[in-house]
Amino acid sequence: MRILLLGSGGREHALAAALARDPMTELLLIAPGNPGTAAIGQNLDLDPCDPDAVVTAARQYAIDLVVVGPEAPLVAGVSDALIAADIAVFGPTAEAAQLESSKAFAKDVMAAADIPTAMARYAETLEEAEAALDAFGAPYVVKNDALAAGKGVIVTDDRDTALAHAKDCLAAEGGAVLIEDYLDGPEVSLFCVCDGTNAIPLIPAQDFKRVGEGDEGPNTGGMGAYAPLPWLPDGVVDEIVQRVAQPALAEMKRRGTPFTGLLYCGLALTSRGLRVVEFNARFGDPETQAVLELLASSLPELLYAAATGRLDTLPSLRWKPGAAIVVVLASEGYPGTPVTGGEITGVDAVADKVRHAGTALRDGRLVSSGGRVLGVVGTGDDIAAAREDAYAALAKISLAGSHFRRDIAKRADHIVVPEAARPRTH
Ligand code: AMP
Repeated sequence: MRILLLGSGGREHALAAALARDPMTELLLIAPGNPGTAAIGQNLDLDPCDPDAVVTAARQYAIDLVVVGPEAPLVAGVSDALIAADIAVFGPTAEAAQLESSKAFAKDVMAAADIPTAMARYAETLEEAEAALDAFGAPYVVKNDALAAGKGVIVTDDRDTALAHAKDCLAAEGGAVLIEDYLDGPEVSLFCVCDGTNAIPLIPAQDFKRVGEGDEGPNTGGMGAYAPLPWLPDGVVDEIVQRVAQPALAEMKRRGTPFTGLLYCGLALTSRGLRVVEFNARFGDPETQAVLELLASSLPELLYAAATGRLDTLPSLRWKPGAAIVVVLASEGYPGTPVTGGEITGVDAVADKVRHAGTALRDGRLVSSGGRVLGVVGTGDDIAAAREDAYAALAKISLAGSHFRRDIAKRADHIVVPEAARPRTH
């Protein structure tokens, strides 16, 4: 199979690694890619958000499957253009990607499909936002309705902070916010590979959004993750597929916009039962880096079957035993304005565990070029062993001013699932 993968982050490096290790993959192009993907495939200097350029490249290289990594090309209509050109693509159309790009759209689909989620109010003015904040009370949850790469959400006990965030979001043209009631309980990320009709779940993961240890500080794109979740009761994954993913697919199909690609279900297991926190229309980063490390089945076969509407013909997925974790190394200043351009050393010694995200090669030296610089993936028989593996590798890497969380997956043995969120059928 000749594959073109779009994107340039840690998620794409992880996807590239899983695609490249499969004998089915004959050619792997990554556009634009990063120094990590260049070592396992061929980087292509191409704007992944330019539909015509992607179609032209796919034709030129006789590509069998295009895999869209990030959300921006989806919103730009890259999948639509590929479908029109009769080229198989893993990634939803722009309309279907609204499950991620518009929180109001996602709420509407959830309401229509009877999918459990947080109560929410949509506000277009500061007065509406203020009224909604007071109606729900603290802790306050304020979400930017526009696509914000996972960084448009504030959860705070401080009303002024909540209001200031709402004001920021509303200042943009057409700006709107969702104010939600607060969901307690542990969170789960479940990736479902979808072909418009069927949803196949990958192993469940948990990510760490806050920048600081003990979940302190502002939200980020994600500072680490682990999979699978030893504390998750049997049957929860099935329940999420039955009560969330399948109804969402059925509703999207009913609307004439079937969802093909990765439906990321972000859930909270609350004291009032399971609730959807958000949908994303693509693989989550950094969870993907941990999840794909344990996939034993063929990723190209899986994604191609999804893209061509044939998931029901595949055998069950196989997984390696044990656990995987990823720890993100971030630049000084992140999640604010990151300091970039610093030299990164020590990567070569642990290259097979490193997933490049914000790195670049300058005069033969590896330097930082973004907020999240790289992820270090560890594996082991259990989470403790996987943690040791990842942190030992990370200790070999240096970047001046950088920071990472030392507590990724540390409390995985202590997580308690509220009774109300345990599966009804078990
Ligand atoms: P989102 O972009 O909607 O995933 O939100 C980012 C993060 O904010 C989530 O992973 C949660 O940790 C947190 N969050 C979002 N919505 C809520 C909510 N209603 N209650 C509590 N935390 C939330």
